[in-house]
Amino acid sequence: MREKSFWGWGYQDAFPDDDGRRALGEMAKLLLGLESVELLPLPRIDAIELSEPRKRAPEGLPITSERTARISHTYGRAYGDLIRGFGGDFANAPDLVATPESEDQVRQILDWCDESGVAVVPYGGGTSVVRGVECPRDRADAVLSLDLAKLDRVLEIDRTSRLARIQAGATGPELEAALAQEGLTLRCYPQSFEHSTLGGWIATRAGGHFATLYTHVDDLVASTRTLTPRGTIETRLLPASGAGPSADRLILGSEGTLGVITEAWMRVRPRPLYKLSASVRFSELSAAVRAARELAQSGLHPSNCRLLDPAEAALNKVVEDGSSVLIVAFESDDHPLEAWMSRALEICEGAGGKHRGAKDRSQEGESWKAAFVQAPYLQTALVSLGILADTFETACTWSRFEELHAALGENVRRALVETGGGGTLTCRFTHVYPDGPAPYYTFVTKAERGGELAQWAAIKAAAADTLMAHGATITHHHAVGRTHRPWYEQEVPALYREILRSAKRVVDPQGLMNPGVLVEP
Ligand SMILES: Cc1cc2nc3c(=O)[nH]c(=O)nc-3n(C[C@H](O)[C@H](O)[C@H](O)COP(=O)(O)OP(=O)(O)OC[C@H]3O[C@@H](n4cnc5c(N)ncnc54)[C@H](O)[C@@H]3O)c2cc1C
Repeated sequence: MREKSFWGWGYQDAFPDDDGRRALGEMAKLLLGLESVELLPLPRIDAIELSEPRKRAPEGLPITSERTARISHTYGRAYGDLIRGFGGDFANAPDLVATPESEDQVRQILDWCDESGVAVVPYGGGTSVVRGVECPRDRADAVLSLDLAKLDRVLEIDRTSRLARIQAGATGPELEAALAQEGLTLRCYPQSFEHSTLGGWIATRAGGHFATLYTHVDDLVASTRTLTPRGTIETRLLPASGAGPSADRLILGSEGTLGVITEAWMRVRPRPLYKLSASVRFSELSAAVRAARELAQSGLHPSNCRLLDPAEAALNKVVEDGSSVLIVAFESDDHPLEAWMSRALEICEGAGGKHRGAKDRSQEGESWKAAFVQAPYLQTALVSLGILADTFETACTWSRFEELHAALGENVRRALVETGGGGTLTCRFTHVYPDGPAPYYTFVTKAERGGELAQWAAIKAAAADTLMAHGATITHHHAVGRTHRPWYEQEVPALYREILRSAKRVVDPQGLMNPGVLVEP
């Protein structure tokens, strides 16, 4: 069993050693023009002070108040979580941690919490970046973190209908390994794939591998089963239905506020046999944006249509000559893809793109995945060097993108200068739709030691206010949680929030399910 870091991303043994940190520090120095970068001392779990649990764990249920369990369930993996964990601040630790092994036990735990006035925070992989798994200690007599890790199996497969019944606590690698034995895949790869879970994806409406068409996990969900304090909601397994507002749509994105998703029927597919990809360079970002838009509107549905602005392309060492890059890929388990790729490249050329043709990637396996899942370790390592690195993401219409992008450039860069003396801001498109892109921004700056949380909050507010002012969404796939709530409240109609609150009152009358996330009870 590999041990997970109690404060940072992923497995402890994958965190870089001092030489690795020094090498990363050299890169950060170059990127930010710094004179020196310090290797800060790493936190020690035995030095952490925890308050006493406010409730005793009941007999006969898999609930503990053990110290390490409480520490490792205190935070998600947002920048602010890493900073607090790195600083040894675990004041928000849950009083109790539950690890049910069956749905029956989930029910018993929910019943005990309901009777005892204990708030419940459903916990999948704990990779939330919006303070979704943080424990609201001020909102209840005690808080229990309900970890679904032991509900991790693929229970049933309907090959004819290409469906799989999967337990909510299965992580990406766990469910893919089980499906691979049948030659199948869910093909949902958020960057947090290694540690996040199916239940977490559904609860947050995660964005996965496909850049077009099946972008969110929503599109892969066929039915869900959710245990609420007042009973179970199981939806009918159907390919489609026009019978009123969809119950699955209420569960998708509910972020643990209505109940605990225990399993779902998911739409799976055979593993792809044909894979083609191409990389197209553009001298102007606006030309690359035009190509991405025309591709998104072409009906070709590329599996990848990832635009990198010049800074993003350089940061990722794709090209360093100031070009923007559009990575276009197609995949299929059924047919060769040359015709699709050739039309896609024609569209790119029409917008001024230059390329060296497509590469056949069908024999390459999933080698890209190793680099992809390694990337999150960097942010944690940068925290230990006093560097602030974080991302924000959104979606807007094509007509609004140019102005939004310019305003973000101006406002976020100003905040970077005001709070950290400067820094970098890069942009890529993770997903594209016929009516607009989902731009994803990364910012890096020198952290203000001791003032990191305020510094981060100022940059985040500059970004989020700009998104609201330009008609964009506060999140395309990172969810609302506690962090995005003020802007979510600006984004969605007040009457709709009232409907959500009413729904919560029905299934959770005491307001014990993840209070503070998404809507006020
Ligand atoms: C490095 C990094 C990269 C990321 N990349 C992506 C990405 O590419 N795409 C993307 O969409 N997101 C991404 N995220 C965000 C995060 O991984 C997603 O929100 C993910 O879906 C969370 O899954 P989880 O299992 O870790 O859930 P958790 O973090 O444990 O929980 C998230 C929320 O869902 C609730 N929840 C969890 N499980 C259940 C359940 N069974 N029933 C009810 N509620 C539940 C929790 O209470 C919480 O509110 C990234 C995060 C990190 C740190």
